[in-house]
Amino acid sequence: MSSTIERTKVDSAKIITPNGLTYQQPVGLFINNEFVKAQSGKTLKVEDPSTEEVVVEVESASSEDVNYAVDCAEAAFNSSWSTRDPRERARYLFKLADLVEERKELIASIESMDNGKALALARGDVELVINYIRVAAGYADKIGGRTINTGENYVNYTLREPVGVCGQIIPWNFPLMMLSWKIAPALAAGNTVVLKPASPTPLNALYFASLCKEVGIPAGVVNIVPGPGRSVGDTITNHPKIRKVAFTGSTEIGRDIAVKAAQSNLKKVTLELGGKSAHMVFDDANLEKTLPNLVNGIFLNAGQICSSGSRIYVQEGIYDRLLTSFKKYIEENIKVGSPFDESNFQGAINNKSQFDTIMNYISIGQEEGAKVLTGGVRVGDKGFFVRPTVFYDVTEDMRIVKEEIFGPVVTISKFKDIEDGVAMANDSEFGLGAGIETENISTALKVSKKLKAGTVWVNTYNDFDASVPFGGCKQSGYGREMGEEVFEAYTTVKAVRIKLD
Ligand code: NAD
Ligand code: MN
Repeated sequence: MSSTIERTKVDSAKIITPNGLTYQQPVGLFINNEFVKAQSGKTLKVEDPSTEEVVVEVESASSEDVNYAVDCAEAAFNSSWSTRDPRERARYLFKLADLVEERKELIASIESMDNGKALALARGDVELVINYIRVAAGYADKIGGRTINTGENYVNYTLREPVGVCGQIIPWNFPLMMLSWKIAPALAAGNTVVLKPASPTPLNALYFASLCKEVGIPAGVVNIVPGPGRSVGDTITNHPKIRKVAFTGSTEIGRDIAVKAAQSNLKKVTLELGGKSAHMVFDDANLEKTLPNLVNGIFLNAGQICSSGSRIYVQEGIYDRLLTSFKKYIEENIKVGSPFDESNFQGAINNKSQFDTIMNYISIGQEEGAKVLTGGVRVGDKGFFVRPTVFYDVTEDMRIVKEEIFGPVVTISKFKDIEDGVAMANDSEFGLGAGIETENISTALKVSKKLKAGTVWVNTYNDFDASVPFGGCKQSGYGREMGEEVFEAYTTVKAVRIKLD
């Protein structure tokens, strides 16, 4: 029995962030409110992608550690955690949000150091995290069911109950935000969790774990197990005691998870997967507003956003003017470099493998005959920096138009009218985000109805709010995060039907 093994505690490591903040970084697996050594005897090297230097090493879980974490999460679920007054659970979450807020500059700095993103962006991420934890907590006592009238001889009502132990697997592009989108609603609804951060970015997940302990969340409710996708992720997906798995990552792995979740124990699945989202610019768009929106669409987080507006569609009347002004705008405004130099908009690509993928797609685009409007090269020779890259004169069958690149690379295509533009925009197996730039309210509303996407942004892009649901359609996945909709995933409905004598 795994839980009888003696667990060795691991001390935290002292780290000084590149902007000079000193803190204690937990480096053990977080199981049952302790930071412990992994049974694998292995560690993960955590790199700062802007310097390619190893910051620290953290414990790397084995399947046995996951089993132990699930046992602890199950015991916590079966304690009073899942049945207590939901407002008590909310109180922990509100305290957690307050603590994140108190330490937000440190947390943003950890995020920039571990992920490579610009510090200003990391600060924005943390604001959304604080907000979101509060929004989720606010729902805790409002998840209740409904009553159903079937005539005078019966009383019917439903109860929304937590599903049990939830397995959660997240990517490296928004390490803390993805974690908050998973953990906060799960806890608010009365579940317990075993979460695996992405291997390149475990630091804030472990730091957040220490905050969970600090605010007094009971042992076993939150468990964090960094480790490889193939072993740790797979153990979560196949686990017979896990009742739900929430995954954010690539479509390829998402498909694999759906199959294994079904084959193991038919656990509930929600998938937030890849994208190739269309950002449409109509002839009447206001370019002064549109250019920063296009930039936020594709160069925010160095393009490593699932909903990136990575296909720009421009109506023919404004096409030439847009090309000239977009090039000028990017070259004058979008600086690339150290996340901690606040004049830089774009930081580093998170890891070497993703950097190589992006550089490879840039070569593919050139081989396919697309023209480079700007960029197309790496910046410097240390750290994974890529110049914002725009391809134009593309055809819709090119790989750079079809496939998710997940980097600061965008294609620009021309369209004639609404019908033609919408057909091009919808010609994708993905359906995550979409954008519309227009000053015409009818165009905005008509096109919003026609686009096949989980989110449509009008005159803004990659603009998230804690109260607004987010998720995809088609092969971008299913299920929604944030808003009220997320509780669909973290609860199960019980109907009670009572016959009256
Ligand atoms: P990834 O699919 O490689 O990895 C995601 C997570 O899954 C990581 O924690 C990884 O370790 C784990 N994993 C890997 N193999 C696994 C397996 N066999 N079983 C279980 N888990 C496994 O994705 P990534 O490179 O970390 O992130 C980039 C991708 O994520 C892009 O496709 C992007 O579009 C997508 N993404 C989607 C959203 C969204 O909300 N829709 C948000 C962010 C990222
Ligand atoms: Mn890292």
